[in-house]
Amino acid sequence: MENNIEVRRWLEDFNLSHPLVIAGPCSAETEEQVLDIAKQLKQSDVTIYRAGIWKPRTRPGGFEGVGAIGLKWLQKAKEETGLLMAVEVANAHHVQLALEHDIDVLWIGARTTVNPFAVQEIADALAGTNKIVLVKNPVNPDLALWIGGIERLYNAGIEKLGVIHRGFSTYEKTKYRNIPEWQLAIELHERFPNLPIICDPSHITGKRDMIQQVSQQALDLNYDGLMIETHNNPDNAWSDAAQQVTPAALKQILKNLVVRHKSV
Ligand code: PEP
Ligand code: MN
Repeated sequence: MENNIEVRRWLEDFNLSHPLVIAGPCSAETEEQVLDIAKQLKQSDVTIYRAGIWKPRTRPGGFEGVGAIGLKWLQKAKEETGLLMAVEVANAHHVQLALEHDIDVLWIGARTTVNPFAVQEIADALAGTNKIVLVKNPVNPDLALWIGGIERLYNAGIEKLGVIHRGFSTYEKTKYRNIPEWQLAIELHERFPNLPIICDPSHITGKRDMIQQVSQQALDLNYDGLMIETHNNPDNAWSDAAQQVTPAALKQILKNLVVRHKSV
């Protein structure tokens, strides 16, 4: 496979701390929850606030996200904290709404990266904007599909591209929710060294007590950042309860990390 893209090292344009930390709840649930978590995270090394408002659930009937109303809560959180805001987008309509609400970072989820039609429509909807776009790996360990998603966005003129490694589904019984298959992410990083790579230990592990260890592994592999799901009441979260940590626990995780490399 040829390298036909040359991503600029855009991360250096921002005076961001290393590692870049993206944190916030799996799902936005209420305005109070969104604001409370954002205010607590403001007191730590978090730069970007994440919250899912359209949730791609494997089976119907569960909580599928609060929808567009959540964008207003994120706007308010941005006004009150100055944190950059990030949401998952899965189609052109989501992109349009996110742009209307000044969302800074849009990410493509693992269940969307597998679908070239969806990625292409997102890329087309983002063309001409200057947004930061992060592409999660596809649910299955298919490097070409991940690269294809990046290429579609790059070809649409998106310059501030990055990737999120959230692990891969497997039939094997392992300690992980999604096995890391580190070598795939490393191969991607070697192929596109200027593309910031962010580890999502929350979806890799599925368990809050493994997040420290996987975050450290990512930093030891010279990752640029971490995306860690953080909730003010993790056990009662409306999605992904077992893997979310409190803002206080996140602070401790970040404090414990040993940063041996500095890649930016
Ligand atoms: C999420 O970030 O909450 C999410 C749905 O993640 P993924 O796409 O990695 O499953
Ligand atoms: Mn989640």
